[in-house]
Amino acid sequence: MIPIARARTRRLTIIAQDPSVTVGGKVLTTEVEVPAEEIAPGPRGYRVQVIDYDTSSGVLYQPMDYPEMENGRYVDPFKRLAAQPTSDKLLNDPHFHQQNVYAIVMKTLARFEFALGRRISWGFPGHQINVAPHAFADANAFYSKRDQALVFGYFRGLSNQIVYSCLSHDVVAHETTHALLDGLRNRYTDPSSVEQAAFHEGFADVVALLSVFSLKDIVGASLTVDNAATAASNPDFISPKQLSIEKLKNSVLLGLADQMGAEMGVGVRGDRAQALRRSVKLEPLKETDDPQKYQNMEEFQEPHRRGEILVAAMLNAFLLVWDARIKRLARGRPGAKLDLQLVVEEGATAADQLLTIAIRALDYAPPTDLQFSDYLSALLTADKELVPDDSKYGYRGLLRRSFQAYGIDPAHNNATDGCWAASDEDLTYDRSHFESMLRDPDEVFRFIWENREELKLHEQAYTKVISVRPCLRVAPDGFAFRETVAEYIQMMTLRAQELQYFDPPIGKPNPMPPSQEVTIYGGGTLIFDEYGRLKYHVYNRLANSTRQTPRMKYLWKCGYFQDPDSAQNSFARLHLSRALNLKTDLREAF
Ligand SMILES: [Zn+2]
Repeated sequence: MIPIARARTRRLTIIAQDPSVTVGGKVLTTEVEVPAEEIAPGPRGYRVQVIDYDTSSGVLYQPMDYPEMENGRYVDPFKRLAAQPTSDKLLNDPHFHQQNVYAIVMKTLARFEFALGRRISWGFPGHQINVAPHAFADANAFYSKRDQALVFGYFRGLSNQIVYSCLSHDVVAHETTHALLDGLRNRYTDPSSVEQAAFHEGFADVVALLSVFSLKDIVGASLTVDNAATAASNPDFISPKQLSIEKLKNSVLLGLADQMGAEMGVGVRGDRAQALRRSVKLEPLKETDDPQKYQNMEEFQEPHRRGEILVAAMLNAFLLVWDARIKRLARGRPGAKLDLQLVVEEGATAADQLLTIAIRALDYAPPTDLQFSDYLSALLTADKELVPDDSKYGYRGLLRRSFQAYGIDPAHNNATDGCWAASDEDLTYDRSHFESMLRDPDEVFRFIWENREELKLHEQAYTKVISVRPCLRVAPDGFAFRETVAEYIQMMTLRAQELQYFDPPIGKPNPMPPSQEVTIYGGGTLIFDEYGRLKYHVYNRLANSTRQTPRMKYLWKCGYFQDPDSAQNSFARLHLSRALNLKTDLREAF
């Protein structure tokens, strides 16, 4: 029998943005390509399993059962329904909701794997994440590490319609990113600092917003929907005036969770789409401003709000790149209308490149206590590794300028390019084995222990290699090459009074009793090149009072030491507290 080549991907219908985005009175849908598999009823697949149980009503919905292949092709069961003149049937079909979450979670996972060139685990021991599209009756959604699940709520909105968070592309991609980031950097959910928690939120928004640009239907439609004149005259062409940076900032594309914001009545004030967040419009600092203006403001001590600084910096850099690309299209033809399809393509390319760098930067980020400045150095390094010659669009210059406009400078300030310095430690390699260094944590541990002095490890601390990941990258010359990324952490539990014995001493929060038990963390990311030599060592040292002192003070202020259980399931609480806050305090700006 001749083996038949099996399809590697399949196409599934999803809602392009959320049910608030309509064209001609119909909700805009699109098809996405996800890795193909034989889907069990649910849909349940090798990485994602939809379990549709509603805890509020006690209802278990029938799982979606996928049809057999037709003529050797997978069938998208909702393609026909999506083509009908009205959207009601699609929107009210729980089976479609199941497909919508399955497809967006799978697509987001595949996007991360594409950027990193390797498989990615969730932040918990299992292979499959549980996804509950109608989990409870509340205007909320979250990633629960304990339940190994993404859960999505629903609620009756201001328009008296039921609003399903599982139908919002932004919300599903945001929650999936929490789970993926947790798999890549497990310690970022540790209670540490506002900025580390804010990174989880901001990064999840960045992935959600930039990945919309790969759905070209919605990009084209929203550029014309936002502009009735173009839609009415000739939707294939668009005036450059409609593509100013200010206009793009206000488009549906750059607002997060438009429908939820509007239906909860908490959307951004004055926002046409009433998105839940429109971080791209956060005002850049003026020259006379204190560079830490936002970081010092009380409202930016809340993780989602603080995360908006990161989102603003990233998305403004994206807009500058898109704008530069649009200007090239218009070169030599001032004022002439532009081919809409080309404008959309340029946006998709810019977003795609930035998203790849944003995900790859995680490999160059320290494993503990991440600050935005660390992430900026990681971003610049990731980009330099991918594209050494930055002269065409100058991404790195734009990123730096855009981050600086929000008071974020690279953590590695000594280098003129803001990238991490290449490792120059004089290390011993001849007692470890190259082959097992590629995958064996014990071998990597032996290497770092052997070199603990050069790598500036704290000898008394508990040290553990928490991951060793081989990755295949494409070098700028087109050749594939292998890198290995390993993370280690160091921790030490001691009494508060002992913090003063570090050099320099770590400050104890004043009211903390001297006998209080505290744990301090440090760690590093090691990036080995294809010959097994250390290329970068990105670390936070355990004995570092500039980082540890504010961390102690922050955790004390949050009551973390008084209530050790507060660390449990912090994500669920974070999102819940935000939602509760929104309901009780509408003066908030989102
Ligand atoms: Zn979140």
